[in-house]
Amino acid sequence: MTNRIGLYPGSFDPITNGHIDIIKRSLRVVDKLVIGIAVNVGKTGLFSLKEREKLVLSDIKNLGLEEFVEVRSFEGLLVNYAKKIDAKIIVRGLRAVTDFEYEFQMTGMNSRLDSSIETVFLMASENQQFISSRLVKEIFTFGGDISSFVSSNVLKEMQIQKLNNK
Ligand code: ADP
Repeated sequence: MTNRIGLYPGSFDPITNGHIDIIKRSLRVVDKLVIGIAVNVGKTGLFSLKEREKLVLSDIKNLGLEEFVEVRSFEGLLVNYAKKIDAKIIVRGLRAVTDFEYEFQMTGMNSRLDSSIETVFLMASENQQFISSRLVKEIFTFGGDISSFVSSNVLKEMQIQKLNNK
């Protein structure tokens, strides 16, 4: 019996419907997916690592995917973390051309660091491809409606945070 473990790394600050789409679809390729929330080096995000982890976990539970998806955080080199959890596949999502250059370089570097790990790209679904955590945060800051880009749980936490920061 095979047990293909995939690692889906990112900032997830916060998790969006674009991420969720990639998570669901990646389960057609891997048996188990570990969502690796990266400690932001030198970046101060909207949510802390613990908060990001909690939000991802609650979305996964609401989708009933906790049997197949694990949520962890990691620091340091991605390939080292992949090796540690025995993941042979790194999953990434690809939006329009802007993602390509960066992903192309990262994949090249990662395969030089560890050639036994493959990076698999899933194209963003048509209706999700303009969603990014950064834009969601910007739109929310200026009072725009983000309810079709994030889960209701994420939206609620963003509203709470906004109130607390006032
Ligand atoms: P990073 O900070 O590395 O960009 P993100 O949390 O923004 O991390 O994204 C993690 C992964 O999810 C990346 O591979 C990114 O391309 C992908 N991703 C983010 N939003 C979308 C989306 N709307 N559709 C498809 N893939 C996405």
